[in-house]
Amino acid sequence: MALIVQKFGGTSVASTDRIKNVARRVARWKAQGNDVIVVPSAMSGETNRLIGLAREISAEPDPRELDVIASTGEQVTIALLAMAMHEEGLKAKSYTGAQVRVLTDSTFTKARILQIDDEKIRKDLAEGNVVVVAGFQGADENGNITTLGRGGSDTSAVALAAALKADECQIYTDVDGVYTTDPRVVPEARKLDTITFEEMLEMASLGSKVLQIRSVEFAGKYKVKLRVLSSFDDEGEGTLITVEEEKKMEQPIISGIAFNRDEAKLTVLGVPDRPGIAYQILGPIAEANIDVDMIIQNVGHDGTTDFSFTVNRGDYTKALGVLETVKTKLDARGVVGDNKTCKVSAVGVGMRSHPGVASQMFSALASESINIQMISTSEIKISVVIEEKYLELAVRVLHKAFGLDKAD
Ligand code: ASP
Ligand code: MG
Repeated sequence: MALIVQKFGGTSVASTDRIKNVARRVARWKAQGNDVIVVPSAMSGETNRLIGLAREISAEPDPRELDVIASTGEQVTIALLAMAMHEEGLKAKSYTGAQVRVLTDSTFTKARILQIDDEKIRKDLAEGNVVVVAGFQGADENGNITTLGRGGSDTSAVALAAALKADECQIYTDVDGVYTTDPRVVPEARKLDTITFEEMLEMASLGSKVLQIRSVEFAGKYKVKLRVLSSFDDEGEGTLITVEEEKKMEQPIISGIAFNRDEAKLTVLGVPDRPGIAYQILGPIAEANIDVDMIIQNVGHDGTTDFSFTVNRGDYTKALGVLETVKTKLDARGVVGDNKTCKVSAVGVGMRSHPGVASQMFSALASESINIQMISTSEIKISVVIEEKYLELAVRVLHKAFGLDKAD
């Protein structure tokens, strides 16, 4: 007998019919002799609707109150799921995060899980119940309701699986696994049978929206066996996210091409080339709560240099405003920006043992005359910033150049 945690995303519980479907699926796992913990999201669109209501009242709602309302979406789906399971003849009990006591810190709207009390859950499982736990939420030490950030029910499921030492954590979603790239851009994209945690983490950080980043970090840290599968297809094995050692020997050099459309680039021209400049530019940017992604500083000429970085496109105007002030203060020559850029990345642990991946990537882009504006690398990824209009072309060319179209 195994203990399985099954997380169902918003589209999987989007209607009462789909909720009944989930209950039937859970009943099959139960019938095979497994213990099951179910973690649903809110019905799709519901969390947005709730946050929208809050914003109709206040432009900057109090985060504590925002969590009180945002957490209710999942309170609806846990009860409906438990009822649907009763209809299937199963014993089932639902709990909100606070009831289980998913203890979090007090960072409202993006709290971190500190500890999970497994007592009630273990007792219910032992009595033959399916235990349904609301995703996305917990409570701090004072009993305040908290939420874990958008997409946070993935993290709830992984944390529960870690706390209860589950045999597997299954994330059911509207795609049947993790793909080599977005099939909407490259129809030849293939579903991966396995991907390592590190690669998944890069893919998630670089724009692949299959899993919340934090859930992948969590699974890697606590060695939770994590699988992404479709809630609409009964056959597939999905994608298993593995620790690297388990991956097959003959692994491809590149596992996937990730991309992010929402990049914007800013450059401060002709800043004095002296210690403390990066701090004087990026300090005010951080103070304005703007996340910086790639950074490039050029070699100095005549005592000055150009300093470029990228931000989320949504922060572009705000960042430009901050830089205007910085420019005056530093007596820089000017500030220029471009919000029509994007980032394309090749990800693969195989890069570690195969030199020349970067040049292969650059040659593929050159063959289509795509100009690279910025480059950044880590041990297992190479990212480039390019003009947004070349995004699709670049992804297609790289997908092909690294042989990802071919079935293995
Ligand atoms: N319902 C929450 C959201 O929409 C959490 C989740 O779906 O994972 O972000
Ligand atoms: Mg999600």
